[in-house]
Amino acid sequence: MTTTLDRIAPFKNEAIKAFTDPADAAAMEAALKEVKAGFGRFYPLVIGGERIETQKRIRSINPAAPSEIVGEVASASATDAQRAIDAAQRAFESWRAVPARERAEFLFKAASLIRERRFLYDALLVYEVGKSWPEADADVAEAIDFLEFYAREILRYAQPQPITPMAGEENELVYIPLGVGVVIPPWNFAAAIAIGMTSAAIVAGNTVVLKPSSDSAVTAAWFVDLMHEIGLPPGVLNFLPGSGSEIGDLIVAHPKVRFVSFTGSKEVGLHINELAAKPEKGQRWIKRVVAEMGGKDAIVVAADADVDAAVEGIAVSAFGFQGQKCSACSRAIIEEPIYDTFLEKLRARVAKITVGNPSERGTYMGPVVNAKALDSIERYIEIGKKEGRLIAGGKRAEGEGYFLEPTVIADVSRDAKIAQEEIFGPVLAVIKARDFEDALAIANDTEFGLTGSVYTSDEKKIERAKDAFFVGNLYFNRKSTGAMVGVHPFGGFNMSGTDSKAGGRDYLLLYLQAKSVARKI
Ligand code: NAP
Ligand code: MG
Repeated sequence: MTTTLDRIAPFKNEAIKAFTDPADAAAMEAALKEVKAGFGRFYPLVIGGERIETQKRIRSINPAAPSEIVGEVASASATDAQRAIDAAQRAFESWRAVPARERAEFLFKAASLIRERRFLYDALLVYEVGKSWPEADADVAEAIDFLEFYAREILRYAQPQPITPMAGEENELVYIPLGVGVVIPPWNFAAAIAIGMTSAAIVAGNTVVLKPSSDSAVTAAWFVDLMHEIGLPPGVLNFLPGSGSEIGDLIVAHPKVRFVSFTGSKEVGLHINELAAKPEKGQRWIKRVVAEMGGKDAIVVAADADVDAAVEGIAVSAFGFQGQKCSACSRAIIEEPIYDTFLEKLRARVAKITVGNPSERGTYMGPVVNAKALDSIERYIEIGKKEGRLIAGGKRAEGEGYFLEPTVIADVSRDAKIAQEEIFGPVLAVIKARDFEDALAIANDTEFGLTGSVYTSDEKKIERAKDAFFVGNLYFNRKSTGAMVGVHPFGGFNMSGTDSKAGGRDYLLLYLQAKSVARKI
């Protein structure tokens, strides 16, 4: 039997631009100008297809130049939240019956339109969250990948499912959607995570209330507008920006909400999980919660490793996008015999990192996302200076924006605060290990378990780490960041979350439920 899926090209990752091609660089310059010309625009709520203005507004600022307002976004009230859930519930009745092929088509169309507007999305991310050009492009490429991947995945789940035949019966198992979902993404992959979580929920036949991060609400608004531009029926995707602490509890606890898909900090994730577990009056189900949370990711360098390669991998993992990735390396764990050599080489490598306005092409590190993050990271640096030896950075970098130097603190003990708590900024703790076993024990000794990497040339150490290093995404002889959709399904263990494996074949299952149908013949 030829299925729809057979006629679609296999999934392939979108190439990420390095901007070495002068045509790409020129297109990006033009896009930066165009996006800047649109600064200050207002983005309303979108509920049941209706665009609604609010008195209260969220100001999304450019962290490299905080006086610049990228956009003003509506801020929802409790009444708006109730209306958004009602609209999603109404739309579910018809959306759940739309064939998978048609639902997938919306994702394919969205991917192709984002591809056409690639540089505009890149430019928006540069301004709204302070990404460098290549980091911004990688975020947009990942968003395209999620759309392409989940569109194919729903077609796979819509195919006849294998079950054991039984004489005298006709049997089948079908995957059906759950209902109304609340989607709460973070700002750090403002395009990829918001678009990935939302599109997975929608393509599976659910309807969504999207509460974006207040720091990246314009990027989310662009996506919501794009989905309506391509004809997504009203109410399938409702846009409900607003303060997490003001409307978050209401939407998570609402009895008509069937599932919550969250990515963000451990604190907020645990709070959501607890709230969602308590049934409200009139609630007929146990809510499903997908919660992907923080990390304290380690890179282990064995005594036999290629130290130069390890230094490069660690620098990129620790300081790419200012260390604001859940997968960022925040602990370098180094076997004793190479510890001093490693530190010298790392110091020299970090000295080459440029910090500045990410709208300029050559900038490697831009600002951290907001004033609160800056404060919190600076506090950790002060603690770190007492817990270890500062060997690089440690101060704010020049400029009006929230710039920090790439900071390295050596001789940190395994149980130090800066070795245990997620800082979510450009701060790396270096820890000395007695030997490889000790290094693995240190690596596993936090409450998190998201990503990890090991540099070694020893097959035995690779086998040992494969078994013992307890993280959802383990890498060897490469950086700990940059998971690719389809290639490295992403999600962590322990307090890093529910291990949902975004961009993998198990992911859509989180937005579906299976129904077994038997008929006597
Ligand atoms: P965050 O502060 O936890 O916020 C995440 C989202 O939750 C935002 O949309 C936020 O809205 C919302 N929120 C806040 N309080 C809420 C409440 N009471 N109820 C409902 N929603 C609420 O995290 P973030 O600063 O955006 O992101 C950084 C964190 O995300 C880091 O810990 C990082 O490790 C983690 N992360 C994890 C992964 C992964 O795959 N494991 C990927 C990326 C990031 P407001 O903005 O309005 O407060
Ligand atoms: Mg911003």
